[in-house]
Amino acid sequence: MSLPTPRPDLVELEGYHSPQLDVQVRLNTNESPYAPPVAFVDAWLDALRAAPLHRYPDREAGDLRRALADRLDQPTQRVFCANGSNEVIQTLLLAYGGAGRRAVVFEPTYALHGHIARLTGTQVVVGERSDDYRVSPTEAGILIASQRPAVVFLCSPNNPTGTVEPRATVEGLLAAILEHGPGLLIVDEAYGEFANWSALELVADDMPLVVTRTYSKVWSLAALRLGFAVAPPAIITELEKVALPYHLSVATQIAGREALRFDPEMRSRVEMLVSERERLAHELALLPGVTVVPSGANFVLVRFDGDGHAMWQRLVERGVLVRDFSRWPRLEGCLRITVGTPEESDLLLGALRAVLEESR
Ligand code: PMP
Repeated sequence: MSLPTPRPDLVELEGYHSPQLDVQVRLNTNESPYAPPVAFVDAWLDALRAAPLHRYPDREAGDLRRALADRLDQPTQRVFCANGSNEVIQTLLLAYGGAGRRAVVFEPTYALHGHIARLTGTQVVVGERSDDYRVSPTEAGILIASQRPAVVFLCSPNNPTGTVEPRATVEGLLAAILEHGPGLLIVDEAYGEFANWSALELVADDMPLVVTRTYSKVWSLAALRLGFAVAPPAIITELEKVALPYHLSVATQIAGREALRFDPEMRSRVEMLVSERERLAHELALLPGVTVVPSGANFVLVRFDGDGHAMWQRLVERGVLVRDFSRWPRLEGCLRITVGTPEESDLLLGALRAVLEESR
């Protein structure tokens, strides 16, 4: 039997993996530690029972987009929804990337930006972050001028470092793109609700700016897969051309709409997670040989003096799973810890103290 080979540019690529282990404390994938409110689940199931399941869902996801636009104080024509923000990013790259085009990412950052770019045949150009993991608008401007990318990714808060870019950086990148473009700036705000400002306020009909967000974190709905983009209507029209017909199931559309009615509950969860993040970062910084990177997200990156991978392994042995970045370029010795419940933080801190004690 002889099977065909895939596209030559795919042969080199590996799939994206984030290992899951069966442990007591799971702090490795930046989900919310809290299930959505029971009243939300009831409202969602009631609405789903009443939905005509033998019919295709609303192709435009009109109710959901209107509800989201309302909440964000944006016109409905600026909102596009898809199955998680990963699908939003894929749709953007299918529309604006592709063969002969370039996408810029600033490393270390969310691996899927480069990965999805490559899957769509887009060439990836890597820009560097400075020592504090920020993007320098001057250096980014030089890169944009020389590479003339079709797409520039800026992840803020950045995964896995937690770094929030200031407004001036977003404006600087936009200015460079306007001068040397055409190109599109995609600000990935998957963790935007945990930060102190949002690039949403810069979206305008004549700006090449897209902000992407997700229901997977703040809205406790990672299992349902819903993300969205806010962008000029002309860009949304292109995304709609690329998205598969009826890609967003009725269950997802209803969930997204109903969740918005639980805004106060969600806001209080964000406050809880932000204050827990600050407590965790403070406690971690007190440990010997541990450096904490300032975070505006629902996770914290820590650097260990010594072997980060061995530390990760010893935490797993104690029933605590965090994300091991210690073998990534630019992240030697680093582990990323999702902010969980206060009890989970305490278990993590206890395990860390014990491991550090043992190795003294
Ligand atoms: N962007 C960033 C920066 C992320 O960290 C994630 C989730 N890990 C996503 C996008 C994708 O989120 P989802 O597809 O669940 O919306």
